[in-house]
Amino acid sequence: MRTVYVDNNATTQVAPEVFEVMKPFFHDLYGNPSSMHFKGGEVQKTSVEAREKVADLIGASPDEIVFTSCGTEGDNAAIRGTLENYPGKRHIISTRVEHPAVWTLCKYLEKRGYRVTMLSVDREGRLDLDELRAAISDNTALVSIMYANNETGVTFPIEEIGQIVKSRGIPFHTDGVQAVGKIPLDMKRITVDMLSFSGHKVHAPKGIGVLYIRRGTKFSPLLIGGHQEKGRRGGTENIPYIVGLGKACQLAARHLEEENNRVRFMRDKLEQGLLERIPDTLVNGDREHRLPNTVSLSFEYVEGESILLLLSNLGICASSGSACTSGSLEPSHVLRAMGIPFTAAHGSIRFSLSIYNTEEDIDYILEQLPPIIEKLRDISPFWRDYIKASSKQ
Ligand code: PLP
Repeated sequence: MRTVYVDNNATTQVAPEVFEVMKPFFHDLYGNPSSMHFKGGEVQKTSVEAREKVADLIGASPDEIVFTSCGTEGDNAAIRGTLENYPGKRHIISTRVEHPAVWTLCKYLEKRGYRVTMLSVDREGRLDLDELRAAISDNTALVSIMYANNETGVTFPIEEIGQIVKSRGIPFHTDGVQAVGKIPLDMKRITVDMLSFSGHKVHAPKGIGVLYIRRGTKFSPLLIGGHQEKGRRGGTENIPYIVGLGKACQLAARHLEEENNRVRFMRDKLEQGLLERIPDTLVNGDREHRLPNTVSLSFEYVEGESILLLLSNLGICASSGSACTSGSLEPSHVLRAMGIPFTAAHGSIRFSLSIYNTEEDIDYILEQLPPIIEKLRDISPFWRDYIKASSKQ
């Protein structure tokens, strides 16, 4: 069966070049970089090079890069590592559309006495920066706002947000997990104190991530132990994965242009083609300020999960906007925050492309998906009539 993988915001295929450079570090090059002997030295050298490649991708200095295990760890380390430095301040500002790595942590902190302002978004998933300005107070310890949304691909104006936050002298963290490798980022140009990202979203393996910490930022480590990562994260370094991430970041820098041209073209072709072929289809999110690889579409009157299963039977891997957890089919908090109607949020599907997709993949989806939606709508005509009738009341 043909496989068409368009779920790259969930995870990506490890690039063959990445896998290749990692291999020796599982047998010959097994030293601990902290060891004094030559076995330590030979891996130490490669980890320095990898750190430089990672730093280059985001315009940072190598000493501002801290390797973590994943995006979630980076987000947790940034938020908790900042709060610890401002014990007198008990207010956090974030948004209603963050990934659970930030969102659930904010809810957890709320239960422990922090006041959390979750900024709202409009129907297009955009923030109102006046709401941010009004929310900042002398008690604000941290602002954490994502760079790009994982479900809709909508990007926030991080440069402008950084200026607002820094003009009030407040630490600013951004979850860059979906942005890094897809759009150009330059830490020298934007006023961000901390940025987290994850290897498995940029064609490196799962189990490696990065927290960028601008020089001079007050930070306390989440993992307290050895002196690794200049005391900012204890634990023996995951050298094979660090080397793999270095390679992935080098490749991502080379592919940024392709990501913004060929991948964007394929995404637009898919979006346009589906809008033309399938009636009652909506695009979720601001089409102007969006990652080049992502489109979230709502097919009214059908269940996203049914679409996904039928697509999967045909070898197409996408994802839905509803969190099918604990038996409930609640639409995602992101689409709810955007005020997407219930009927549309339920039938939402996210397609997220990568440089490994081809136009044939897009043609295959354009051929296979319209009959799936038609079939699903045909078998639930009463539901469709009911929804239509009730929306007229
Ligand atoms: N933040 C965003 C925006 C994400 O999309 C994800 C993963 O999907 C994460 C954080 C968590 O990253 P990880 O899976 O590496 O922990």
